[in-house]
Amino acid sequence: MIQIPKGTKDMLPSEAYLWHTVEDTAREVAKLYGFKEIRTPTFEHTELFARGVGDTSDIVTKEMYTFLDKGGRSITLRPEGTAGVARAFVENGLQGGALPFKAYYLISAFRYERPQAGRLREFHQFGAELYGAASPAADAEAILLAARFLRELQIDDCVELHLNSIGCKTCRARYGEALRAYFRPHIEEMCEDCRSRFEKNPLRILDCKNEHCKRFTAGAPCMLDYLCDDCRAHFEELKGLLEKAGLPYTVDPRIVRGLDYYSRTVFEFTTDLIGAQSTVLGGGRYDTLLEQMDAKPTPAVGFAAGLERLLLVMEAREVPLAERVPDVYIAGLDKESREQGLLLAEELREAGLITECDLMDRSLKAQFKYADKLGAEFVVVIGEAERAEGAAEVRHMRDSRSERVKFQEISQYIKGYYRRT
Ligand code: ATP
Ligand code: MG
Repeated sequence: MIQIPKGTKDMLPSEAYLWHTVEDTAREVAKLYGFKEIRTPTFEHTELFARGVGDTSDIVTKEMYTFLDKGGRSITLRPEGTAGVARAFVENGLQGGALPFKAYYLISAFRYERPQAGRLREFHQFGAELYGAASPAADAEAILLAARFLRELQIDDCVELHLNSIGCKTCRARYGEALRAYFRPHIEEMCEDCRSRFEKNPLRILDCKNEHCKRFTAGAPCMLDYLCDDCRAHFEELKGLLEKAGLPYTVDPRIVRGLDYYSRTVFEFTTDLIGAQSTVLGGGRYDTLLEQMDAKPTPAVGFAAGLERLLLVMEAREVPLAERVPDVYIAGLDKESREQGLLLAEELREAGLITECDLMDRSLKAQFKYADKLGAEFVVVIGEAERAEGAAEVRHMRDSRSERVKFQEISQYIKGYYRRT
């Protein structure tokens, strides 16, 4: 048998409810903040990511799934959601519409990475994007949305918000020079990636995961000391807003984020419950992204969360999650009774009860065993006598009590039971 490609995973029906919990929570929380869903293509022109994500980012330099299509165009499976949303925002004329523009997405993304716990080649993200607002209030809203999402998932007590500002082009240029001066004496001993970052984008050196390089980055100059007055004021106001909203954070001058489009605010929610892949959600402001893509500049802020990592945290945290079990299993003793069962099942479903019936021509004993495995609350047994009488035995599985109930009253009977308990 052909096997699943490396770095990908099947979501099986037995774990679907876990994914639905995360996705439903994402949708509900986004809605509370007035964010509406956006869906963009799974693949885009390669150029979009090269420009949007930035050609010094890890994503563009080594992680993209790029291929030529039959028309000879270079196409890339999206490695993240922001660039596609930015393109759609501009291409659909939304830049001239009502602002702020607020959208969220639930997508799968593709990166050619070394697979490990919390790092896959196809993974899933919940992301939110807010265009048009340059104010620190917009950063605060994005961060508060992210925090509420994690709180609703019941993992807010094991994640920490880390916050930084990487300034604007002007202050970053000054900082870049300071970093080059600091790293120059060591750069020959650092990894190949860092040597190329040194020329193109020295800030990215701070994001190096190589243990040897980390030794040098520890004492590097701090971005916050190089912020211009405007960037500093923006950062101070944001911190003030988060404090007033009661959201704790740690200023972490080492966060630079992996994507090139960020400016000013960057943030991450991290956890120590799931090993090395500790960032569950990351985001920031990207006021120059649209410019970089040759569109009219519009300020923007957003974030993306990795759903696989969130599920790992929820598992580690033992967040109590229960799947809704079938309300009713209908057992049939003979062919006609099974037929009657199928029709009764339709009636019960009409009333909103999750209902299953025998499709396997099993013995009564085997049907009870299966109903038990499903965790069904009730089993309804139909045989020849029941059909003649127009009533069936309705058995409550947990307390093993059963009662005879007319077919047409079964849905009311079961709902009545739920109302009482
Ligand atoms: P990392 O530093 O872990 O590589 P990143 O900076 O590349 O993360 P982003 O591009 O900001 O991550 O993506 C946002 C979130 O998506 C991450 O915080 C993480 O939760 C998730 N994520 C990123 N890459 C992967 C992956 N290969 N597999 C699973 N989740 C991922
Ligand atoms: Mg990465």
